[in-house]
Amino acid sequence: MDLEALTRLESLRVTAQILDGKATAAKIREEIALEITAWRDSGKPAPMLAAVLVGEDPASQVYVRNKEKACQSVGIASRVIRKPDNTTTEELLELLAELNADPMISGILVQLPLPKQIDAQRVLDSVLPLKDVDAFAPENVGLMVQGRPRFLPCTPHGVMQILSRYGHQVAGKHVVVLGRSDIVGKPMAMMLVQKDIGFGSAFANATVTVCHSQSSDLASITRSADVLIAAVGRAKLVTADMIKPGAVVIDVGINRVGDSLVGDVDFGPVSQIASAITPVPGGIGPLTIAMLLKNTLAACRLQHSSSTN
Ligand code: NAD
Repeated sequence: MDLEALTRLESLRVTAQILDGKATAAKIREEIALEITAWRDSGKPAPMLAAVLVGEDPASQVYVRNKEKACQSVGIASRVIRKPDNTTTEELLELLAELNADPMISGILVQLPLPKQIDAQRVLDSVLPLKDVDAFAPENVGLMVQGRPRFLPCTPHGVMQILSRYGHQVAGKHVVVLGRSDIVGKPMAMMLVQKDIGFGSAFANATVTVCHSQSSDLASITRSADVLIAAVGRAKLVTADMIKPGAVVIDVGINRVGDSLVGDVDFGPVSQIASAITPVPGGIGPLTIAMLLKNTLAACRLQHSSSTN
């Protein structure tokens, strides 16, 4: 850290507001559970999520188990279809065709990563857009980019929930997104530049800069960010000297360091400079799962209304 940054750290004794993703996700799950009760009380079927899990990857097993538990907690039925490691692309496509056609299934998720022999893009592309609760399908991406989303992708949607529920407006502000993946960085940037993506105009209309692995002089860009969203996957990439005093810092990264999980942001020092910050764990992770539940309920509603019209 250079002298200037050290001086800045010394002079600022700001303790950032902690944006509690765990508590926010619990609140959202309560809201979803109430909506599902009302939906069922009107005689409609329970939403159902089908998760396709291929192989034995331990992290994927944990993720799918957590998603199952989350479904249960709000009244969404879930079905996990486990396939062996040597499953072929064709076999998965057949399975997805069955799930697409099954009227009891509202949403389908294919747990990533898939084993190497599988053409992951073909498999993901075969999920019916109306059941694509991850919002990865080109049709759903296109609708979102045009500002008329069917489903919002879960992780950026979780970021929007935390910004809006804590009242951190982004309109007219400079938001810097670190990372340009199809799952987080790109859709995040696209959502922030819309006129309104469903949270009101104050939580849209941002001026957005996207940085990636080929961006040079990252710090000079991040230092002008009113809101910084890190989604890179490199532990403590974002240091205190990269932060504008008073910025809102959202840490999407999840990195295993020894036995613990850390984000992309050097939490302790950055929280002395930022005005608000998400922790890892307990930040965006729980919200991502809550948004999957939200999308599954939305998918159920959509399918029900399209089948009765
Ligand atoms: P990815 O590997 O697909 O993308 C990483 C991005 O970071 C790339 O676009 C790359 O260009 C960019 N990048 C690499 N080095 C960089 C650098 N030095 N400066 C700026 N950008 C750089 O990863 P992803 O799927 O987008 O996930 C990113 C992180 O977020 C990972 O740690 C992942 O585990 C985490 N994640 C968390 C959640 C959650 O629910 N909290 C969900 C998805 C991903």
